[in-house]
Amino acid sequence: MFGRDLPWRKSRDPWLILVCELMAQQTQVSRVVERLPGFLQQFPTPTALADQPVGAVIQAWTGLGYNRRAVNLHRAAAWIRDEHDGRIPSNRSELLNLPGIGPYTARAVRVFAFEYDDGVVDTNIARVLARLGNRQLKASEVQQLADDLVPVGEGWAWNQALMEVGALLCRSKPTCEACPLQPDCAWNTARARAAKTGDPGAPDPAKRSAKVSTKQSTFDGSDRQGRGRLVKALAQSPVGLGQLATMMGWPDQVARARQVASTVVADGLATFDGQTYRLPS
Ligand code: SF4
Repeated sequence: MFGRDLPWRKSRDPWLILVCELMAQQTQVSRVVERLPGFLQQFPTPTALADQPVGAVIQAWTGLGYNRRAVNLHRAAAWIRDEHDGRIPSNRSELLNLPGIGPYTARAVRVFAFEYDDGVVDTNIARVLARLGNRQLKASEVQQLADDLVPVGEGWAWNQALMEVGALLCRSKPTCEACPLQPDCAWNTARARAAKTGDPGAPDPAKRSAKVSTKQSTFDGSDRQGRGRLVKALAQSPVGLGQLATMMGWPDQVARARQVASTVVADGLATFDGQTYRLPS
């Protein structure tokens, strides 16, 4: 199979796959490759992670961004320990019962750990599917189409390959000449025809198609940046109310710092006793 030599492709360990899928959802693949081994060494099983305070998991997650995922992972691990004897289920509805686990992650675990023939739809695959059929897909259509296309018994390889096409070739500016799907791609055909006839062109069907993510809002100066700074600081030591605004990068915006810090507390990423913010124990 063409594509990147990613370490998790050599494993069918459902815990490794679950952790890796959660990490990779909003973090660059290169950083996941770097951080995954250390994280799994610290938390080798769901029970090992669930037995640690959530603050230890948040601390280990520092630098990966979107820290709420660490809290969700702790909740999911506790559920796996308490409801499934520490073993990750392969049944879709049981996976969906895990706190913080949505349809994408449930299907990814079934396919990449247990080799089921589900269709997995991340933003890369959603883009490929819209372009293959040359039409914008509705949310109700994209998952059905992904499921229908999986060749029987080939779910693991099929989804990995489609993900690679999306990540490496079918990008916003696609490299169609290197794509193995080119002969079957309706958008590629439409573009070639438009180029020949001098038509204005074939609009990209992936734009505004379901599950294709749009550009993220700017990080610099955002609330998200302040939240990240606070959690990073808390991983080192508690933060007093008087230091909060400076610590979050907004020394002149005390009210904003307090309001955003309250969302960090509400998300289970910190505690506040009226004076000091701490990682939860
Ligand atoms: S031929 Fe081009 S547009 Fe079609 S799936 Fe491949 S890379 Fe994407």
